[in-house]
Amino acid sequence: MPNTCVFCGSDAPLTREHVFGKWVAKTGLDLSPLEHHAGPLNALPRHLGNQPPYRQEVRDVCGACNNGWMSRLESAAQPVLTPLILGDSGAIAVGDQPMIAMWAQKTALTAMLLSSKEQRDNGYGLAPSEYRALYDNRESMTPLSGSQFWVGRFEGDGAFAAVRVTPLTVRIPGLPEPHIPQAYAMTIVLGALILHGVRFPPPARSIDAVMTYGFSRLWPTSSRVDWPAGQVCTEETFVSLADAGMLRVGNGEIQLQPWRHAAHLPQSAIENGMVKVRALCHRHDVYYPPALLQEALNGTFYAFMVACECSAYIVHTDADRIRFRAAGPPEGISQMYEDMSGDEYIFRDRNGEFICKQLPD
Ligand SMILES: [Zn+2]
Ligand SMILES: [Zn+2]
Ligand SMILES: [Zn+2]
Repeated sequence: MPNTCVFCGSDAPLTREHVFGKWVAKTGLDLSPLEHHAGPLNALPRHLGNQPPYRQEVRDVCGACNNGWMSRLESAAQPVLTPLILGDSGAIAVGDQPMIAMWAQKTALTAMLLSSKEQRDNGYGLAPSEYRALYDNRESMTPLSGSQFWVGRFEGDGAFAAVRVTPLTVRIPGLPEPHIPQAYAMTIVLGALILHGVRFPPPARSIDAVMTYGFSRLWPTSSRVDWPAGQVCTEETFVSLADAGMLRVGNGEIQLQPWRHAAHLPQSAIENGMVKVRALCHRHDVYYPPALLQEALNGTFYAFMVACECSAYIVHTDADRIRFRAAGPPEGISQMYEDMSGDEYIFRDRNGEFICKQLPD
């Protein structure tokens, strides 16, 4: 079966589409090589290698989309966003706000195409209907219905660019977590600019959210946005923000939370004195000692190997989660672990010994 354009469904030859329009590389941002990662939270980071940032490309878009409405969207966004990316104060006129919100949506959808086909088949990434729905809005230049967007200021150490999509569930106290996400958060950082949005695809009903960080609302549009406004997001607060941590809905009883299969480890996952976490295969669990959680709270992080029936993995601890960093046959994974620098530690508890390497600060 031929590959078809994710947006319009055409089976015309697919072209390379930049995640960020080519104009982003010309804004004067630092273009030194960065490591790029794409993919859902807590899934295998797909190394895109060291390449100049802002130049990643995907190949799921036809020429008519690429050179048509997507190109028009980039051209319209460029003059509005360039000063904000460079950190010059500015404004977004009411008339430009739907277009900028659509640009953020388009950038999030395009970046998710960098996830592997396998990840997408496993339910990660975004539904094909999201792409078709955005295509349907190409003339109106508006974001998808049931979405809200905010704009704020980012302050980072050197070049930091990110596109992050976090699946969300709507949690109602006393009810179990839904099995599938009902919404997703989108966060885009380019230079000093951060765009944050949430979308409730049908059949979910859109819930009005309040951005507690004081970012200006871009969509639905109400008034001219003067930039910057609100608190400054940093690399430290980025993950919490991207996980919808700064969004409040209703009176606070209903909560938007990262879908647990994709993000945080639930407290209840301690089993027989070990922390249980779903492996990347989505079929088996792997275990590690709770002492590593305590270490992480104290700011010390480790790498370790675990395995299920399908695969071996290298896992890193992080401030509020663990991350699968590699997956593959046990021989290759243990070689990767061997090759890592860092002092080795053994954690001993009633479950036995657990070997880790400390990660550099
Ligand atoms: Zn197309
Ligand atoms: Zn890396
Ligand atoms: Zn498995």
